Amino acid sequence: MFPADFDYERATSVDEAMDLLDDHADAEVEILAGGHSLVPAMKTEGRSPDVVVDLDVPALDAINALDDRTVVGALTTYADIADSRALRANAPLLAETAAEVGDLQIRNRGTIGGNLAEAHPGADPPAAVLASDATILLRHRDGKREVPATEFFRGDGETAVEYGELVTGVRVPHTGDAGVAYAKKTHPATGYAMVGAAAVVEVAEEAVSRARVAATGAVDRAVRLPSVEDALVGERLDSEAIDAAASEAHADIDSERLRSDPYASGEFRGELLETYVARALESAAERVAGNPPTA
Ligand SMILES: Cc1cc2nc3c(=O)[nH]c(=O)nc-3n(C[C@H](O)[C@H](O)[C@H](O)COP(=O)(O)OP(=O)(O)OC[C@H]3O[C@@H](n4cnc5c(N)ncnc54)[C@H](O)[C@@H]3O)c2cc1C
Repeated sequence: MFPADFDYERATSVDEAMDLLDDHADAEVEILAGGHSLVPAMKTEGRSPDVVVDLDVPALDAINALDDRTVVGALTTYADIADSRALRANAPLLAETAAEVGDLQIRNRGTIGGNLAEAHPGADPPAAVLASDATILLRHRDGKREVPATEFFRGDGETAVEYGELVTGVRVPHTGDAGVAYAKKTHPATGYAMVGAAAVVEVAEEAVSRARVAATGAVDRAVRLPSVEDALVGERLDSEAIDAAASEAHADIDSERLRSDPYASGEFRGELLETYVARALESAAERVAGNPPTA
């Protein structure tokens, strides 16, 4: 299938991209990052922008580690995120989640900015940025804006990005001694998460002092699971506490909201949700500093 005709523009700096978005403020514009969602959508799903702005901005393809946080540029590919020593050392959840995205071709071309802006309900990175308490960095014509991940995802394909805005990166706090993990039931054809769960768990004096848990694939957007988090805090991080906390996922996600498609019914996704939240927590527990074995 061929896409409908469109005008092609190329931006080599963020300022140039801003100018192009401004110039075409009355048109339907799409950003071309890795192209792994946009191009298939233009070829087979009838997405037909008037203008495509190709982002060719080296400054956005960078990972900058600071004292307590790492900033990942919007054009950074999953492969570079997965291979990043800085992220593996300081914020491993995002690196490990990026390694789980699709296949090698997707990981070599797809970008974190495109992934977050596309907000596919089964995308992997949104769960990691939510559980990491990350912040999405945006540029618009008149300046910059920062949106916490918890306020970024609004629905299937819907985010806090406003018309004429560009995602420039994501700021990920370092997780220190926390145990982190991402677990997913992979869609057999595409690699997207049927359901995925990300966990960041801190333990002090043998009890959970802080937990952040997020799920993707279950409903129309990635979400935090506050009831699961609350159920863990103050508990010894053992299998019993993990199973009890995972069962609280149903308090956060009403069964009527669960996605249902030819691959998995809502009921099955509900079962996957509890199972994969527990798996992520079990793996995080094995890695958290100072936690005794969970068995
Ligand atoms: C076969 C297949 C399997 C896949 N499997 C997975 C998977 O397992 N897990 C997963 O998470 N994803 C998966 N994906 C999606 C893939 O990760 C895409 O790369 C991602 O969703 C979009 O990133 P991109 O860089 O390719 O963006 P593009 O396709 O270039 O753009 C996507 C959308 O984001 C907008 N956009 C892009 N960059 C910006 C920006 N900087 N600022 C504002 N808007 C922007 C564009 O306008 C467009 O609407 C899969 C895709 C395919 C085709």
